[in-house]
Amino acid sequence: MKVLIIGGGVGGPVLALALARAGLDAEVEVVEARTPSEVEEGSWITFQANGMDALRAIDAAGPLEEQGYPVETISFVNGRGRSLGSMPLAASRPDRLTSRMLARRTLAGGIGQLARDRGITLTHGVRFVSARYEGSQVVATFNDGSERRADLLVGADGIWSRVRTFIDPSAARPRYVPVLNVGGHLPGFRVDVPQGEFRMQFGTRCFFAWMPTPDGGTVWFANPPHPGEPERGSLERISDASWRSTLHTLMAQDHGPAHDIIDAAPEPLRAWATYDLPTVRRWHDSRAAVLLGDAAHAVAPSAGQGASMALEDAVTLARCLRDAPGATDSARIAAALPRYEALRRARTEKIVAYGHRSSNSKAAGPLGRVVRDAILPLMFARAARDGGKSMMWLQGHHVEFDAPVEF
Ligand SMILES: Cc1cc2nc3c(=O)[nH]c(=O)nc-3n(C[C@H](O)[C@H](O)[C@H](O)COP(=O)(O)OP(=O)(O)OC[C@H]3O[C@@H](n4cnc5c(N)ncnc54)[C@H](O)[C@@H]3O)c2cc1C
Repeated sequence: MKVLIIGGGVGGPVLALALARAGLDAEVEVVEARTPSEVEEGSWITFQANGMDALRAIDAAGPLEEQGYPVETISFVNGRGRSLGSMPLAASRPDRLTSRMLARRTLAGGIGQLARDRGITLTHGVRFVSARYEGSQVVATFNDGSERRADLLVGADGIWSRVRTFIDPSAARPRYVPVLNVGGHLPGFRVDVPQGEFRMQFGTRCFFAWMPTPDGGTVWFANPPHPGEPERGSLERISDASWRSTLHTLMAQDHGPAHDIIDAAPEPLRAWATYDLPTVRRWHDSRAAVLLGDAAHAVAPSAGQGASMALEDAVTLARCLRDAPGATDSARIAAALPRYEALRRARTEKIVAYGHRSSNSKAAGPLGRVVRDAILPLMFARAARDGGKSMMWLQGHHVEFDAPVEF
């Protein structure tokens, strides 16, 4: 079986690793539009325990389990610095896996390196443009004029997926969520918060968060509200001085370390618009093309789950391809794709909805803030009382890779 994976971000290389672990007799190539260093660009992410579980399921967690910093507790304060409560990020798992704060470079770079070490072909700098069928095979075309044939085409090409458009030309466009993301790591900057605790401030006009790192630094991010969708490329043109001034203005009425963090943040300050993708009507075309990760269901960053969802998808798709019945590759693929979707759709859509609710609470107006400040402490107190058990639907997910998938 020849498998062509478009996208060498997080989910694509992990699908290739999972197919190898499944022992599938497959020739696999991952084609990525950007260079390896561009793929690793980005800030810090919360990589939650269920994502590490998916990597462990295919013996791929090794290089990452000790990287970054554990995140155990989230605490919340309002603009005046008054505590709104705190709660464990989740109850502890039987396997003791915890969520970790990781530089995106560490996650994407670690996964890419592992794929290369295990002999997977990762081709960089070539962009998928379109595809067509010839018999049961897909023929994909690329921006350098090359073509590749495959029995299965996988779109792991992120939120602006081109494979999604091949599968369904009228597929939904990503939904803009009206907050931006800006943040990073401050080496040698100490904050008065216990190790393992992420403190989040519902500021008067902007959500702001900070967390100490064991090396004496701080990871931080801010979510400036931004009602209108920014034009693509426009955020990159905003200068560092302008970001600092905007963030100082937004945090002007609030108490806490935000102003010192804004002043000390190393340049360049980089911002991302927020999008999600609640329902993609078609995850596959019932023949030989399928989506995974952000291409199928992007989650707003506030859920801290996008990378983990892509990894859960990747290992599930590999299990379905391994166990699908059928006398030919195309019969097995045709059986595997709907089974994979059936195993994944409800969970991912529930998480997208959860991420959207959390993002919206960050962009509340004056009335919304009053309601929020009244309701949140009750919610956090309930979550604290149950020791984080209510978050286990997110982070307690476990993949038993060798268990056969029922068809
Ligand atoms: C600001 C921000 C903060 C985030 N924070 C978190 C967090 O805390 N926790 C978390 O789990 N997730 C977080 N996420 C989400 C997470 O990064 C994504 O959900 C995750 O990377 C999805 O993995 P993926 O493999 O589906 O897509 P990606 O990792 O986006 O990879 C897709 C790849 O496909 C490539 N590609 C696109 N088009 C083509 C083409 N035509 N041809 C070839 N290659 C192509 C792209 O270059 C890219 O490398 C955050 C996202 C953002 C923007």
